[in-house]
Amino acid sequence: MTLEVVKYGHPALRQKGALIEKITPEIKKLIADMFETMRASHGIGLAAQQVGLALQLTVIDVREADKERPSTIELKGKPADVGEIMPLVLINPQIKPLGESVEGGEGCLSFPQIYGDISRPELVDVKALDEKGKVIEFRAGGLLSRAIQHEVDHLNGILFIDRMSRKTKEELRAELDELQAATKAELQKK
Ligand code: ZN
Repeated sequence: MTLEVVKYGHPALRQKGALIEKITPEIKKLIADMFETMRASHGIGLAAQQVGLALQLTVIDVREADKERPSTIELKGKPADVGEIMPLVLINPQIKPLGESVEGGEGCLSFPQIYGDISRPELVDVKALDEKGKVIEFRAGGLLSRAIQHEVDHLNGILFIDRMSRKTKEELRAELDELQAATKAELQKK
């Protein structure tokens, strides 16, 4: 079942996610629905906040973008095939970004048609639970590193516009204000 993706201006996007204590059948269904929603929207990542739920849960799949924007992973310190961990479910993730900051373009399903360059550390160490409750640990680079940092920000109520340079945000100001106002007007109708 595809879910409604909430847009900028929706309060859920600013909520810090609660830890998931137990992977219940409801959580498993939510994970399946989030993948379906993400794929229907041609996204590479989706956080629970984006479907209106403040939980520490995100789904990611970078394989479609691999040709234009490659990703790397290391498992136990050794380079591995990104496909080994795709599609990726991160529950209660803890991350440590590292390395030099690199600029790259980002979009977000909660900000349709809005794109901007964002500077983020090039690598990220990740520790999380997968959909079976098993601990997974790896280091990611490239697009996957960027996607993970973007999604984990969502889990803490942080949005990519918060990471944009002041200049980039100024350039997008009118579009952002318009989107936020439209979302708020829509919420008032409900
Ligand atoms: Zn996003």
